[in-house]
Amino acid sequence: MTQNLKHREALKSAKRIVVKAGSKVLVENSGRPDEKQLNLLVEEIAQLQNSGGEVAFVSSGAVGAGLEALGMDARPKEVQDLQMAAAVGQICLMSVYADLFRKNECRIGQVLLTHDGLKDRERHLRARNTLLNLISNRIIPIINENDAVSTEEIKFGDNDVLAALVAILIDADALVILSTTDGLRDGDERVSFVEEVDEGVLELVSDTTDKLSTGGMASKLESAQIAAHNGVPVVIADGRKAGVLTRIFDGEDEGTLLFPKEGNISKRKRWIAFFNRVEGHLIVDEGAANALGKGNSLLPVGIKSSKGDFKIGALVDIQTADGEHIARGLVEYSSDDIQKLIGQKTAGKSGEVIHRDNMVIL
Ligand code: GLU
Repeated sequence: MTQNLKHREALKSAKRIVVKAGSKVLVENSGRPDEKQLNLLVEEIAQLQNSGGEVAFVSSGAVGAGLEALGMDARPKEVQDLQMAAAVGQICLMSVYADLFRKNECRIGQVLLTHDGLKDRERHLRARNTLLNLISNRIIPIINENDAVSTEEIKFGDNDVLAALVAILIDADALVILSTTDGLRDGDERVSFVEEVDEGVLELVSDTTDKLSTGGMASKLESAQIAAHNGVPVVIADGRKAGVLTRIFDGEDEGTLLFPKEGNISKRKRWIAFFNRVEGHLIVDEGAANALGKGNSLLPVGIKSSKGDFKIGALVDIQTADGEHIARGLVEYSSDDIQKLIGQKTAGKSGEVIHRDNMVIL
């Protein structure tokens, strides 16, 4: 059996499922929630849930719905106005969901998360517990970024990352990212599966930006890769196509499937590598790259340069000179101190710039 068939078959027994739908799937061009479309999607989610699945639903569309409700035709430039739109739109969306899920005899709960919240170890565990508790009580969590208080600018595409993090957080069996194309395309052809999101794959996508979304396929693939690297298979599919979820979980060849990676990253290392935001980059030489691959810590002698302004404990990406990402880890020194240490044999008392226990090889 081919790998694709094997992984498609496995989706039939996926129980815990995260479904993410983007703004363009959920709202009309004006931003108004598209009730017909939402109805189709809710029916499908309800069906998955009622046949024994455990579904968590990550829904975008708050900003779009808010723009419409406030009569704004263009996406505002100021962050505070976007946050206002999100606050208004979130309720519009939820009131539509409340009606639709009630009709389908499903209970729902709203969970608004922030990326920063998931980074804090205790809140991270708290979020996990809340989500698992909702799910085990057969309540569907409807999740969005808490845009109104988020300190990061609201970037469309963020919900793709959020969905991947939620999938890891609750140990989902599968993640479905619904957008307005049926997955990745190579010219006119749909790409049925992707083993690894590499340069060749990224070359196939060109990102687009408009009023409601700038997420684009590149951001979807990168987010999907986070989940896949943590063992969660991901399908990117067309959310406007009737019956799409049912077909995916019947094992049919729908959308683009990203294969899950085998192998076990510890929960702590997952948290380090994927729930923190990358704040800088260290470029290392070949010797260091090889040493990291063998499980060693990063010493200053192998660092060629440091980019970004970060403090002790920040997450940084480790790259080779030709831009290949090889690892990610928490630094023992600030960027200022690293500048001074570059090229030295060891770094002060702790010796290393990133300890191997705080590093994940990608
Ligand atoms: N959280 C934003 C919203 O609900 C969307 C972010 C995204 O589309 O990725 O409008």
